[in-house]
Amino acid sequence: PKFSTRQIRQDFLDFFNSKGHTIVPSAPLVPGNDPTLLFTNSGMVQFKDVFLGAEKRSYVRAADVQRCLRAGGKHNDLDSVGYTARHHTFFEMLGNWSFGDYFKKDAIAWAWELLTEVWKLPKDRLLVTVYHTDDEAFELWNKVIGIPAERIVRIGDNKGAPFASDNFWQMADTGPCGPCTEIFFDHGDHIAGGPPGSPDEDGDRFIEIWNLVFMQFDRQADGSLIPLPAPCVDTGMGLERLTAVLQHVHSNYEIDLFQALIKKASELTGTADLENKSLRVIADHIRACSFLIVDGVLPSNEGRGYVLRRIIRRALRHGWMLGVRQSFFHKMVGTLSDLMGDAYPELPAARDLVERALKAEEERFAETLDAGMRIFDDIAGRSGIVIAGTDAFRLYDTYGFPVDLTADIARERGLSVDMEGFEAAMEEQKRRAREAGKFASSTSLPADLVAQLKPTGFLGYEQLASEGLSVVALL
Ligand code: ATP
Ligand code: MG
Ligand code: MG
Ligand code: MG
Repeated sequence: PKFSTRQIRQDFLDFFNSKGHTIVPSAPLVPGNDPTLLFTNSGMVQFKDVFLGAEKRSYVRAADVQRCLRAGGKHNDLDSVGYTARHHTFFEMLGNWSFGDYFKKDAIAWAWELLTEVWKLPKDRLLVTVYHTDDEAFELWNKVIGIPAERIVRIGDNKGAPFASDNFWQMADTGPCGPCTEIFFDHGDHIAGGPPGSPDEDGDRFIEIWNLVFMQFDRQADGSLIPLPAPCVDTGMGLERLTAVLQHVHSNYEIDLFQALIKKASELTGTADLENKSLRVIADHIRACSFLIVDGVLPSNEGRGYVLRRIIRRALRHGWMLGVRQSFFHKMVGTLSDLMGDAYPELPAARDLVERALKAEEERFAETLDAGMRIFDDIAGRSGIVIAGTDAFRLYDTYGFPVDLTADIARERGLSVDMEGFEAAMEEQKRRAREAGKFASSTSLPADLVAQLKPTGFLGYEQLASEGLSVVALL
């Protein structure tokens, strides 16, 4: 298509290059500079120290396409995947930055120019939000750009409500942050959902495509805000959401890249209906899992490795639901590599490793998945609407079902899991293990595979080498 995902990536970089921005490569999903952050969840992560004034670069304007993961920590969209048209675990964020150089006026003008002049989006289907006290941003949109006041929505802080609009952006509980202005696309009144700030804003009619953050503060652990040495700009636009708009489709899963992944998943699972939710989840999860392994994470029972294991097992359970009883997930990697290898050469370079790591995990989970699903049915049959913590713990302990997997299966059947009860059962088991002085160690992957990964000091490897007590709990 004219607006292929590939082409859009390039258009974005070309545009900001023409505005004096240095193009920088994507950083890995495992942040190299920040032990407090589980994963790179936005483009600004690799520039955190530049905002704080602790690091200097040879440029004051930058642009890139950053691979991101929102499956843990402050930003976690894992439970939205398969339920909304717009959320992934892994996605690509197009971003442009000013490090103490330009500020609100240029950031807004360039975003508008790119969307409406280069890509020619219809202006009457765009609307914007500003932070409720940010009169400057409001005036820029209204007077300089010419957006009518009724299409500019003032938004405050969401006070932690999931998905609710929030025009004060924070990477995490501490660190760089500031007010933002966001651009939304109206996909039309045939889709349920209200504009940002309305009670039904969580629908998928008005989809947020671009967030322009005016980075001004460094949030301290006590919650206070300290002004940054110089005000900066940090923008992030979801490539998949933008591509959906430009390809005239509603859901991210309908864009070229996802359709190719879904087609492959449909072949591997023998599922003809390309709108099947499980195919969408599998297509989402193969990206997250492959890139995590590319970036040095392997399945394990703790930290980042456990997030990876959880995502893999969720994908495998969806395959199981589609009737698959052999390993299939690792066979998606070649297709993904063909689709994304030009933008991320690390992926084809690590293809063999990724396939083997996924296959090993598939074989491992295959030993208990089928039995676990039967146990789940059993438990669900004799439970009320809440699955007891001890039952969820049994699925975890004996069948290798991460508790979020159990909760996800429960949710599909209108049930929930007693999470506190699960935690209590987990604590109890740890206590018993400590008392017994038991110390077991097992790696889930062949030693040669582990050895293939360069030790870079990321948490993931260390965990693999030293899986301790908690391993007793799984399998
Ligand atoms: P939403 O409100 O839709 O959950 P967000 O406000 O959490 O999005 P930001 O943190 O502002 O998103 O991130 C900047 C941009 O990244 C968003 O405007 C969107 O285009 C994209 N984006 C955010 N989360 C996801 C996701 N889970 N999957 C795909 N794209 C995303
Ligand atoms: Mg969100
Ligand atoms: Mg939002
Ligand atoms: Mg946002």
